[in-house]
Amino acid sequence: MTSFDHPFNRQRRWAIKQAKMLEQEGQCFYCGQALAIYHAQDGERKADCATIDHLIPKSERPELRRVMSNVVLACAACNAAKGVKSAGQYMAEVRAR
Ligand SMILES: [Zn+2]
Repeated sequence: MTSFDHPFNRQRRWAIKQAKMLEQEGQCFYCGQALAIYHAQDGERKADCATIDHLIPKSERPELRRVMSNVVLACAACNAAKGVKSAGQYMAEVRAR
């Protein structure tokens, strides 16, 4: 995902990550990996870096991209592996591992 098509600006992303970290007790929504949030200025995406993911993909329901109940934090690996799959599809895959 490129930053220019992201539904949230940098300050908003930081606030969302902080709120969701508390909600998810610092774990990836999908695989349970411990997450860390870094200031966006770091640039570098580390393996445990919390990324913003959408339960229902933006490609399917673009109108839900800013709806907080559709937003979760995922580790970078899950975010990349999930792609445009729905959360249900991807979670079935994670459980099957
Ligand atoms: Zn994960």
